[in-house]
Amino acid sequence: MNIIFLGPQTSGKGTQAKFLSEKLNLPLITTGDILRKKKTLGDEEGKLIATYIDVGELVPDNLINRIVREELDKNTYDDNGAIFDGYPRNLVQAEEFEKYRQVDKVVFLDIPDGVVLKRLAARRICDKCGAIYNLISKLPTKDGTCDKCGGKLVQREDDTERAIAVRLNIYHKLTEPLTEHYEKLGKLIRIDGTGTIEEVRGEITKHVIRST
Ligand code: ADP
Repeated sequence: MNIIFLGPQTSGKGTQAKFLSEKLNLPLITTGDILRKKKTLGDEEGKLIATYIDVGELVPDNLINRIVREELDKNTYDDNGAIFDGYPRNLVQAEEFEKYRQVDKVVFLDIPDGVVLKRLAARRICDKCGAIYNLISKLPTKDGTCDKCGGKLVQREDDTERAIAVRLNIYHKLTEPLTEHYEKLGKLIRIDGTGTIEEVRGEITKHVIRST
C-alpha cells in the first residue's frame, strides 16, 4: 500500500506520516529529511540542493525523482509499499511516480494559511536529531533542549520569513492542485489539520487505518 501525505507546511504531515508508518508497519519516506541530509554532505549535489531549499524553492523535478527512485531501490524496501511525506509535490512528480508505483490513498491535511504562519513561527527543531517541537503546542520539557537527545532546539534554516513566503506560495501554486488530481481519482482523504496532534491522529485512525 502506497500512501501519500499532502498539506501545507506545519499541517502535521511529518508527525502523522510517522504515526501511520508505525501503525501500518510501512517504511516512511520524507523527502525534506533526505534532502537536508544530502545537503549536509557538502558535496556537489549537496551544494546544489542547498541553493534551492535554503530559499524555499523546490529542487528540480528530475533530481528529486531520481533521489526517490534510488531510495526505493534500496533493499530496505520491499513491495508492500510505503508512506510518502513531501513527495510527489507537483503534477510532474506525480505523473513520474505513477509510472512505477500505484498510489492507494492520499491523506490531505488541510489548514488555512493563517494557522501555517502562526505554527511556523513557533516551530523548532533539534539541531542534532531533527526532532520537531512547537513553542505553542509541543513544548520540550526543558527550555531550548531536545527531550530525546539533549540537542539544541533551533529554527530551521528555511523557516525565515522570506523562505516561508516562497514555500507557501509554491505550495498553493504547485502542490495544492494535486488534491484535485487525487480527488478525481477517488483517492483523496481530506482531514482537518487544525486540531491537536491527538485529534488529527484520531481522524486518521478512523478514515485511513480502519478503512484499509
Ligand atoms: P516544508 O513542507 O515545511 O516546506 P519539507 O521538509 O517537506 O518542508 O521540505 C523542505 C524543502 O525540501 C522544500 O522547501 C524543498 O526545497 C525541498 N523538497 C522536499 N520535497 C521536495 C520535492 N518533492 N520536490 C522538490 N523539492 C522538495
